[in-house]
Formats: sequence, C-alpha cells, structure tokens
Amino acid sequence: MHEMSIAMSIVESVAERARQEGCERVTGIEIVVGRLSGVQVESLRFCFDAATRGTPVEGAELSIEDREPSGACDACGAEFPVAGFHACCPVCGLFRVRIVSGEELAVKTITIE
Ligand SMILES: [Zn+2]
Repeated sequence: MHEMSIAMSIVESVAERARQEGCERVTGIEIVVGRLSGVQVESLRFCFDAATRGTPVEGAELSIEDREPSGACDACGAEFPVAGFHACCPVCGLFRVRIVSGEELAVKTITIE
C-alpha cells in the first residue's frame, strides 16, 4: 500500500530526529499533506498507527494539515487556489497554470519529550 510506505518513512525520519536529540519519545507530529500529493489522509492516518508500533513514535498524536493547492499563471502572473493539475487562470482564462503548492508531503513539526 502506497500510504503504508509513506507512513513508515515518516515514522523512520521522525524517530531518527528524536534519536539525534537524545529523546526517547515522540509525543506529537504535525505533517502537511497537499491535496495534489495523491495521498489519502484517512488512509495515511490509519497506516500511521500501524507504522509507529514498537517505535519511539508509538502513541504520538498525528495532526495533518490538509493543504489546498494553489497555482500561478505563467501568462499574467496571477496566483489563485486550484482544484487540480489542469487549471485555467481565472484572470486571463489561459491554461498556463503552474502548480506552486499542493503536491507537498512534509513533516512540519515534531514534539518530543
Ligand atoms: Zn492568467
């Protein structure tokens, strides 16, 4: 499952960070998931629980920021929220929109003990 491998790599990198800080336990993780990242938030949440078992991240509270995608028009420079990859500029009407955010999947903050 796609989300399972994502959850495991998040847990791994967070556990590694905690180890570097000399901490035993991670109590909270905040991640940002862009809506165009292709990641199902509910599925990720479910997998996260399984992925943390037996790690310093077990029991950590996961908060997910579901980020709305935005695009910028290469023709007129306008920036606006978009629903998908093939967006049309609401200002000039051209299909020359570049996705500027919404594809990200990143750990924003971690809380350690
Ligand atoms: Zn435009």
